Amino acid sequence: MSYIIVFIFGSIWGSFSNVCIHRIPDNLSVIYGRSHCPACKKQIKWYDNIPLLSFIILKAQCRDCSAKINTKYFMVELITALSFVFIFYLFGLTSTSLLFFILCIGFVIIFFIDLKHFIIPNEITYPLILIGFLKSFDPNLNIFLFPNFINSLIGGLFGYIIIWLIIFIYKKLRNKEGMGLGDAKLLSVIGFWFGWISIPFVIFFSSAVALISVIPDLIKNKKKLSSQIPFGPYLIIGCLIFLFLNEQIKLFLN
Ligand SMILES: [Zn+2]
Repeated sequence: MSYIIVFIFGSIWGSFSNVCIHRIPDNLSVIYGRSHCPACKKQIKWYDNIPLLSFIILKAQCRDCSAKINTKYFMVELITALSFVFIFYLFGLTSTSLLFFILCIGFVIIFFIDLKHFIIPNEITYPLILIGFLKSFDPNLNIFLFPNFINSLIGGLFGYIIIWLIIFIYKKLRNKEGMGLGDAKLLSVIGFWFGWISIPFVIFFSSAVALISVIPDLIKNKKKLSSQIPFGPYLIIGCLIFLFLNEQIKLFLN
């Protein structure tokens, strides 16, 4: 029963993430204003705006104009809901779960905005940096997952500076920007949340996944190695791999 409640709770936050994903790049308010159908501009009624369910009931079509609703809306809600259930399964009703719920929402929003628009919004990274640092003072902090405040601060600075350096060197060498400062802020978020030890691993995992994923395109000659790819989603995937291997990595380093 509690899993069903967490699933519904997650799908609602997934729905909120959808609003952020579609409005933040256009600088629109995420709180005010009802959602409209992008095709016919009609306001979406509350009963057609129920997370996950409305998409299935409406068979992925707008009630008014029958325009197709992007499957991405459904995917975002489902991914968020399932992530919430998984977090709750791992950590139960704890402050650790609450922190991961927040990080999950932030990551989902950044992932989909960067994928489409090649930007990582400050509206998401700055609050995550703040929470990542402040959580270090939580007396019930899960110290196996989260660093103390000094480690958190070093991690955040380390993450930012290392990408800033990559950008700087790349600019000197190729006179081009390979990555943006948004990537630096995102890696800073990860450093603040998981400490300096996470940074080299996240860079390694995300670069490895990015390389593997562009190889098919390189072979088919669709992309050049120098063509721009959004790196934010790879940093997030790299961070997730780090978290799943967290125990092994820390045992190995001890
Ligand atoms: Zn419509």
